[in-house]
Amino acid sequence: MVEYSQQLLLGLDECELVESPLLSCRVHSQVLEPLHFLAQRAASAGFVFKVASSYRSFERQLLIWNNKARGLRPVLNDAGEVIDLNRLSEREKVFAILRWSALPGASRHHWGTDIDVYGAAQLNPDYQLQLTVAETQGAGPFAEFHCWLSDELAQGNSDFFRPYVQDRGGIAPEPWHLSYAPLAMSFSGQLTPEILRAQLAQTELELKQTVLDNLDEIYQRFICVA
Ligand SMILES: [Zn+2]
Repeated sequence: MVEYSQQLLLGLDECELVESPLLSCRVHSQVLEPLHFLAQRAASAGFVFKVASSYRSFERQLLIWNNKARGLRPVLNDAGEVIDLNRLSEREKVFAILRWSALPGASRHHWGTDIDVYGAAQLNPDYQLQLTVAETQGAGPFAEFHCWLSDELAQGNSDFFRPYVQDRGGIAPEPWHLSYAPLAMSFSGQLTPEILRAQLAQTELELKQTVLDNLDEIYQRFICVA
């Protein structure tokens, strides 16, 4: 089995990343071809295929986390309402943020193997993308695309899978989040709580002590999900 560097697992090494001019995103070099294949299949089925988010660095995830903890960026509850963090304990704050945002070092987006996608037969250029479950179901603008994507994955036409499709009480369901299994499985198997703990201990992370005190539970509920 290939052993990957800790830097790579934590989103601190960008050496393997390549740019897709076609989809305006950066992914791991081994993901480019399967991603383009998926995009091509989607186009053949009549969809405009878009990548909303791909590789995200440790620094970027750290900024998101710290801004949420500092109240500079809203933290939402399951109903999509803004939570007043001042009314929560430190532990409650940590778990409220984790519902929608990964811990720096623990985002699958650090690997270049995971992407957030959307698509439709016609995309309104003025449409403000929200990445909500409602957009992917019923009368949502991306419902048809997601229906097609489900079939595509079920038929084994692609090695991507949806790691966050079910709500297990950790991360909220994210049907738009795709992961390239052949590589992501290896990465997730090698990202241990010890690697994460060592990195976070030396990081300027908001709520750091609470995160470290609860890291084993966080790992079980939010990180080793797939
Ligand atoms: Zn995602």
